[in-house]
Amino acid sequence: MGGSMKSATGAYQLYIDGKWVANSSGKTFPVYEPATEEWMAEVMEAESADVDRAVQAARKAFDHGEWPKKTPQDRAQILFKLAAKVREQLAMLAEVEALNSGKPIVEAEGDIGAVAEIFEYYAGLATKIPGMVNPVSANALSLSLREPIGVAGLIVPWNYPLLMASWKLAPALAAGCTMVLKPAEQTPLTALLMADWFEEVGLPPGVVNVVNGFGESCGAPLVAHPLVDKIAFTGSTEVGKSITKSAANTLKRVTLELGGKSPNIFFADADWEASIDGALFGIFINQGEVCSAGSRILVEKKIYSKFVEAMAEKAKTIKLGPPMDRASKMGPVVSKEQYDRVVSYLEVGKTEAKVASGGGRPSQFAKGYYIEPTIFYDVDNSARIAREEIFGPVAAVIPFENEGEAIRIANDTPYGLAAAVWSRDIYKAFRVVKSLRAGIVWVNHMQPTCTEAPWGGYKQSGVGRELGPWGVEEYLETKQVYINLDEKPIGWY
Ligand code: ADP
Ligand code: MG
Repeated sequence: MGGSMKSATGAYQLYIDGKWVANSSGKTFPVYEPATEEWMAEVMEAESADVDRAVQAARKAFDHGEWPKKTPQDRAQILFKLAAKVREQLAMLAEVEALNSGKPIVEAEGDIGAVAEIFEYYAGLATKIPGMVNPVSANALSLSLREPIGVAGLIVPWNYPLLMASWKLAPALAAGCTMVLKPAEQTPLTALLMADWFEEVGLPPGVVNVVNGFGESCGAPLVAHPLVDKIAFTGSTEVGKSITKSAANTLKRVTLELGGKSPNIFFADADWEASIDGALFGIFINQGEVCSAGSRILVEKKIYSKFVEAMAEKAKTIKLGPPMDRASKMGPVVSKEQYDRVVSYLEVGKTEAKVASGGGRPSQFAKGYYIEPTIFYDVDNSARIAREEIFGPVAAVIPFENEGEAIRIANDTPYGLAAAVWSRDIYKAFRVVKSLRAGIVWVNHMQPTCTEAPWGGYKQSGVGRELGPWGVEEYLETKQVYINLDEKPIGWY
């Protein structure tokens, strides 16, 4: 039996080797609701000794367990069952996700629906990972076999807690890997709720282990652990760099989905209404806590002043509210730390540019980490608010003269996750698409993310791709097998 999710004192435990277990130190940490600033749950803090236990369990499940040897059909069935469980419990998971992260419930429901879709997609893909026959000599058969990479360490952020976990869990499971998941310390709850179903859906013990804790004391030991073969990380560019350095000691495979300062480019000939909405949606969806947020809004000079005015007018109508209010379009940001960070950028922005709307804390809330949707304009691309990822509801609007200048400004950033271009001129739009150095480029939209299509960054926005068939590739090794067909193959002596 898996035991109880919570300890006698009510703290969520660690999930290791198919069981709920206590951590070794007895330390716990609190989880808060950002809308009320109130305590929500207590979670056991995993440190290096606990991470080691989890990795040992995953290693044993990989080296001696049934999971990598199961038929792809069997793995697919278990992934489908997990997806069905997520659908059945969608309302519950969405509520916990909304309360814990601050995002509006309507969006949380969308996120959890996408989680189910991810598991369904990779359940289907599990049976479609073929090898190859390589065209070598007539006297041999050369095969390429696709094999699971081994034990994967999965480290995820707080902006889409269960969704970012599922982007990694589902392809890793489809590939036949075993794993240790470390959710973000701010938002550990939905992954724990899901872990409670692993046994019921038929995942063997040790295949997925869940440890919660902080970056330095829990994430870092997972990255450094010699028995881990691969790290998949979503988070800040700064931590991504430290992970790459640490992983170098054991030459682990590393995939990283990091920060961005994505340009959302508007030409004068674009549909007006769609453009204003697209500029706002691109940056204010999920409170701007989106790695692909359209945080630099580039607008052609011909329409620039009208555009800024129209955006500012409409931004004032965006409904901020508590996560469980179905009318809320924006909730609070995730934590006090994030609130302070974003507010400090509001102060920086006021010295660097002009404010078109927002710029502070909305007055109607006594509590909660709410921040007004804020639009800075006349921003120079060299300003800090145009260069540094803020990860909050803060837009920097930058004017441009022509196509060439738009491309130059768009690419003038160390990042390269996403970009969008709005125009009715297909020649111009596609020329710009080809010139942008970014992993995802939208035309006349911003933010749609498709389970079936690749996601990841150029430049300092990351390494590798998630989603679609690309996602599973990152959890596979390739073995070349040479089968000699010549009965006297050597004939050398
Ligand atoms: P943020 O600062 O916005 O929380 P981070 O990149 O710090 O973004 O966090 C993303 C995830 O990475 C979280 O799960 C966090 O605990 C983890 N993390 C932070 N620092 C490290 C580290 N040095 N090594 C491994 N994981 C880390
Ligand atoms: Mg951090």
